[in-house]
Amino acid sequence: MEKPIFPKEINLEDSAIVILWDDGHRSPYPYRFLRLRCPCASCVDEMTGNPRLDPDTIPEDVKAVDHMPVGNYATQFLWSDAHYTGLYTFRYLRSICTCIQCNAARAEAGGPPV
Ligand SMILES: [Zn+2]
Ligand SMILES: [Zn+2]
Repeated sequence: MEKPIFPKEINLEDSAIVILWDDGHRSPYPYRFLRLRCPCASCVDEMTGNPRLDPDTIPEDVKAVDHMPVGNYATQFLWSDAHYTGLYTFRYLRSICTCIQCNAARAEAGGPPV
């Protein structure tokens, strides 16, 4: 079983959400990137996993204005387009980390870049 990894700090910076993990990893997530990956039922079809969100409806300058913990497994962002129903689990967040290392590891594993 994989050891769970927790965020030590979640910072809302100028152009990105930056998560510092308790294993020392640092993950930057551009705001719009993360908003477009909202996993809630109105953004993703629960049955098929297909996206229901039209990227054209998300403002280019969307931001997270706040975030709050959900239990000890996820975090919820309050977005500037008044959307806040998505629970981003730590596991999910870590799996879509955009840092150079993680992108390289995904490319090596043959997966698509995020
Ligand atoms: Zn959503
Ligand atoms: Zn990473």
